[in-house]
Amino acid sequence: MSLWPLLEPLLAKVQKPARYIGCEDGSQSPQHHPSQVSWLLAYPDTYEIGLPNQGLQILYEILNERPDAVAERTYAPWSDLEALLREHQIPLFSVDTHQAAGQFDLLAFNLSAELTYTNVLNMIDLAGVPVRSADRLPSHPIIGAGGHCTFNPEPLADFLDFVVLGDGEEAVGEITAVVRDWKAGGRGPGSREQVLRALAQVDGVYVPSLYEATFADDLLTSITPRFVDVPAQVEKRTIADLAEWPYPRQQLVPLTEVVHDRLNVEVFRGCTRGCRFCQAGMITRPVRERPADQVRTMISEGLRRTGYDEVALTSLSTADFSGIEEVVRDTVNDPSCGSQISVSLPSLRVDAFTVGIAGEIQKARRTGLTFAPEAGTWRMRQVINKLIREEDLYSAVRSAYSQGWRRMKLYFLTGLPTETDEDTLGIARLARNVVAIGKEYHKNPSVTISVGGFVPKPFTPFQWFGQNTREELARKIFLLRDDLRRDHGVKLKWHDPKATSAEGLVSRGDRRLGAVIEDVWRHGGTFQEWSEHFDFDLWLAALERAGLTLEQFVYRHRTEHEVHPWDHLSAGLHKDFLWQDWRDALDELGLEDCRWTPCYDCGACTGYGIEHVVASAVAPAGGSQGTGQDLATGGEVPVTLLSSKPIAVAAR
Ligand code: SF4
Repeated sequence: MSLWPLLEPLLAKVQKPARYIGCEDGSQSPQHHPSQVSWLLAYPDTYEIGLPNQGLQILYEILNERPDAVAERTYAPWSDLEALLREHQIPLFSVDTHQAAGQFDLLAFNLSAELTYTNVLNMIDLAGVPVRSADRLPSHPIIGAGGHCTFNPEPLADFLDFVVLGDGEEAVGEITAVVRDWKAGGRGPGSREQVLRALAQVDGVYVPSLYEATFADDLLTSITPRFVDVPAQVEKRTIADLAEWPYPRQQLVPLTEVVHDRLNVEVFRGCTRGCRFCQAGMITRPVRERPADQVRTMISEGLRRTGYDEVALTSLSTADFSGIEEVVRDTVNDPSCGSQISVSLPSLRVDAFTVGIAGEIQKARRTGLTFAPEAGTWRMRQVINKLIREEDLYSAVRSAYSQGWRRMKLYFLTGLPTETDEDTLGIARLARNVVAIGKEYHKNPSVTISVGGFVPKPFTPFQWFGQNTREELARKIFLLRDDLRRDHGVKLKWHDPKATSAEGLVSRGDRRLGAVIEDVWRHGGTFQEWSEHFDFDLWLAALERAGLTLEQFVYRHRTEHEVHPWDHLSAGLHKDFLWQDWRDALDELGLEDCRWTPCYDCGACTGYGIEHVVASAVAPAGGSQGTGQDLATGGEVPVTLLSSKPIAVAAR
């Protein structure tokens, strides 16, 4: 039954009612049938943030193509609508056909950010479902999650019935089959544990309630299965061939403004650059490229269908896509794509940004350019394995300024392992030098530097590192701010160090954190990703009530053999590889991209029997040197792709 007649009168009283009406181009209005499994795919943040999420859109289409499934979407209602829903006793609803969330068989969250966890509890509660999985009945939806944060799902262990590790394209079909059989069997009393036991047999699915966590002296000592048929270790899912999954085919076109409001085409998954702070790069290995022809087709058909005039080629490091220049050139020159198409490359590596790419992009409308050197000195970049020389950055920005760009954004992290004040101040020095290069080409170039506090993440070499305290992060940011005070042309933005501490708490927490998350939520702490809603005092009070401390979970260095809350899960990486990489980091040794070197046996390819799938696996000419075509002058100019000086590399 649609809740629309009850909702519609309320929408005149809230901000941005278009968040709740659905009707986007590409949306579906599936007819539900009792024999089908109904999924409600949920994003635990606002519609504007959640709608562009590609993972959710991909699964939405794949599920709706199945004869035995239907899928709809929901997003976290903003606090104004939430208050009205609670006042009028209207439950959380789908935006597609406005069905009550509690009527679905599955409510599945995409978890992309830890500070959204309190919204997960809020949405489960708004659905009329008990927030703790132990309190749920067979009549309630099964609550699941996927996305990068599920690589440490332990803080949500009390609330989630299952999580999926890794790629979801194949797993959702297998989960559908299990739930379909459960429904056909009548969902009788006591059947909930049976269906969870069956879900635990699906590769890549982890059911937290089927595992026992034990502690000694305040430390986690093990997480083990409670039943013999439950796997002791859960391996992530990896789809080998992206070409078989050209989704989304019907990208949603929203009726209201959203982030990343453009056509998004995923060009590859995985990354082998080996940046040691980057969880996404580690957990999505190996690299799997989409064939360039399929990318071209997805772009031209997507632009035609959606009417967008901007396409983003998405991945973790888009300039590494082997067909990048040709695809950008073909898009810009394809009359069927329109005459004013702008191409965004959201994840640009400085050392792969050539004049050729700059030239091709600038033929289209110019968008702002963002580079992520991440650290201010070469020493620091060796520690984090972002092996970009200063001359690489200057060469890239020179390419961009020479092609007409004026605005540059640079991303950095502070609070990195071994960071000194000299490293922190190196950020300001780099920014000043970029502005100086800009002045050679333009009157008033501007550079925005955005500084985030570093949060160590599971399944990275930095998982053993004790995060900087919020006081130390604040000191470093103010050091930088004071140093840049007189610099016109450099704008500094930073992330709140308190929010960095809260994120760190949940990132590497164990299931004891469940009580803290629930406490924060029960005291009104929702939308903690949003600065106007974030309330660090709620987190501190909840920790105190639970008898836990930030020191325990955030600031403390881990020892080599300490049990992590995610050790019973596998992202494919060998733990001894990560430990050795951590030791190499402390020794300031870089580790070059394994695309161009012998395999380091990290486990990601070998463990899954998958080779790197790269459309054109040819190393840049001259090893680490490349050549770019200077389109402005028509001449050949050398563009440094990597270092011209020897890099200290780890021997493996
Ligand atoms: S298994 Fe070898 S080739 Fe594959 S990502 Fe790891 S180091 Fe690279």
